[in-house]
Amino acid sequence: MPSTTMPYQVVLIDYDEALFAPMGNEAEMLAQVGARWETHQLRTPEAVLDVARNADVIAVQSVRPLLTREVLSQLTRCRCTIRAGAGYDSIDYQAATELGIMVCNTPTYCTDDVADHAVALMLAAVRHVPRLDAAMRQGRYARELARPTRRVAGTTLGIIGLGRIGSTTARRVRGWDMTVLAYDPYITQEQAAAAGATLVSLDELLRRSDFITIHAPLTDETHHLLDADAFAKAKEGLILVNTARGPIVQEEALVAALEEGRVWAAGLDVTEAEPLAADSPLYRYDNVILTPHIAANSPEAREDLYRLICEVSSDVVQGRVPQFVVNPEVLDHLRAVE
Ligand code: NAD
Repeated sequence: MPSTTMPYQVVLIDYDEALFAPMGNEAEMLAQVGARWETHQLRTPEAVLDVARNADVIAVQSVRPLLTREVLSQLTRCRCTIRAGAGYDSIDYQAATELGIMVCNTPTYCTDDVADHAVALMLAAVRHVPRLDAAMRQGRYARELARPTRRVAGTTLGIIGLGRIGSTTARRVRGWDMTVLAYDPYITQEQAAAAGATLVSLDELLRRSDFITIHAPLTDETHHLLDADAFAKAKEGLILVNTARGPIVQEEALVAALEEGRVWAAGLDVTEAEPLAADSPLYRYDNVILTPHIAANSPEAREDLYRLICEVSSDVVQGRVPQFVVNPEVLDHLRAVE
């Protein structure tokens, strides 16, 4: 039961210890609005009910399905669930909406970082940085491994999904003397132009792009958007970067395209299965750069993430509608709590 000095409770039910542990100042920030901050590393829906049944706000970082319909329907006071990240498919959105519970995310915390990572992968791939470095460390001064390469200036970059991260990436390459194309069915030519890109169809983007970087969400529409058919349409020698979600690229088709040389190099922060299986064929290619879903990482992103969680929670306990409500249809029947 909430105490009189701290009438509200905000519970973080799990978090990524390696990169996104809480900052340590959350309790102090939330105490100012009368909310007690608790953190846990819970693994089951039952454990969530044990510790957070009476919480006012519940935040979750992992994508484990902890906030299920069954759990949400047994929460006595919860008015808001927060996904500490961009995607919120791990929270039962439909159930939360029916129950009058807001669902929020924190989509802006890592926009710059993911864009930085995308351009890092583009440049590392075209300049073969990883394999040259690996050879040096093995005592091989293997200058021939630098070939083939190409000059970035004068090439074309295709961006799939020109939202926050996609348009930040477009801004990053301003001054690189690239032509920037974008495929995004949900924005206008004017919005694309504001980011320095020209909106084209997916086929045109595939046909013209030397580099493609993916920044669309994973949805039914984008699942396997890049499949064998798409790779067959792609410009020969494509450099593909994916920092969005693994299943947007059909991995078997990518491996076949790498084998044929149609895809010349790839930089992947995300893969269809995570962690990537130890026997994945992707490890066979020294022109494939793999990173373990860490594009969001920076100390600034961690700070922003927890600041946003505290801001959203403070608004909720003070009866205000927070930023980043992803189910606005809930606002006309928000749950009332004593
Ligand atoms: P955003 O919502 O600002 O932008 C996504 C863009 O994709 C929007 O403009 C949208 O119109 C477009 N889009 C939607 N459906 C599309 C489709 N079928 N084809 C092409 N474009 C489509 O999101 P954001 O903040 O830029 O993040 C983009 C994605 O990056 C997130 O959905 C998330 O999956 C991923 N992400 C990855 C990491 C990481 O650590 N690797 C971190 C944060 C986000």
